[in-house]
Amino acid sequence: MTDTSLPFEVRHSPIQGFGGYATRPIAAGTRIVEYAGERLTPEAAEARYPDVIGERHHTYLFAIDDEVVVDAAVNGNEARFLNHSCAPNCDAVFDDGRIWIDAIHDIEVGEELVYDYAYILPERHTPAAKKRFPCFCGAITCRGTILAKKR
Ligand SMILES: [Zn+2]
Repeated sequence: MTDTSLPFEVRHSPIQGFGGYATRPIAAGTRIVEYAGERLTPEAAEARYPDVIGERHHTYLFAIDDEVVVDAAVNGNEARFLNHSCAPNCDAVFDDGRIWIDAIHDIEVGEELVYDYAYILPERHTPAAKKRFPCFCGAITCRGTILAKKR
């Protein structure tokens, strides 16, 4: 299931479903993997996954900007299994219209690779909205939601 050229493997995670775990040491600043997938307009993504109010949001969508959304459920790779954490060791980096997962700390073998999803909703990030996007990362600094801090 995992591409062995990658420095991590995908297996069950205590956070949620699957997660990515380092199979060799990864130095801070390393470009680990592209967040690959089908490129859609936001309108096409919305049509594919109409939001059901009150339901927990769960897709592999990642917005690059106002015009392009990547759907990793189609032609995606192992990057889609990386979980969110409020105390991440990776970050999602936008570079020339593509999304990359870069290490922001030195990562040891066996450590789970996590980054801050920092979702931004079109609506205000009210307590109710945050409840629809809960976080169970367990970090001391956990903010209780995978939504971005701002707004
Ligand atoms: Zn958290």
